[in-house]
Amino acid sequence: MRIVVDRDLCQGHGVCESEAPAVFSVSKQGVLTILDESPAEELRPVVEQAVAFCPTSALRIEED
Ligand code: SF4
Repeated sequence: MRIVVDRDLCQGHGVCESEAPAVFSVSKQGVLTILDESPAEELRPVVEQAVAFCPTSALRIEED
């Protein structure tokens, strides 16, 4: 899987980091860094949570 973020939609809420801190990091300024763009399958549940709960629907998963 590969994580894709729409930077125009992301508003730095940090929900993704709360759901999957191994994959997402959001700075105090609200800038999102994807720590792992192709996370291991074990992380799929938390990544799916992050995608589902992102308030601006900025995240999606693409399958390799
Ligand atoms: S939860 Fe969504 S809007 Fe918030 S930082 Fe993550 S991707 Fe951006």
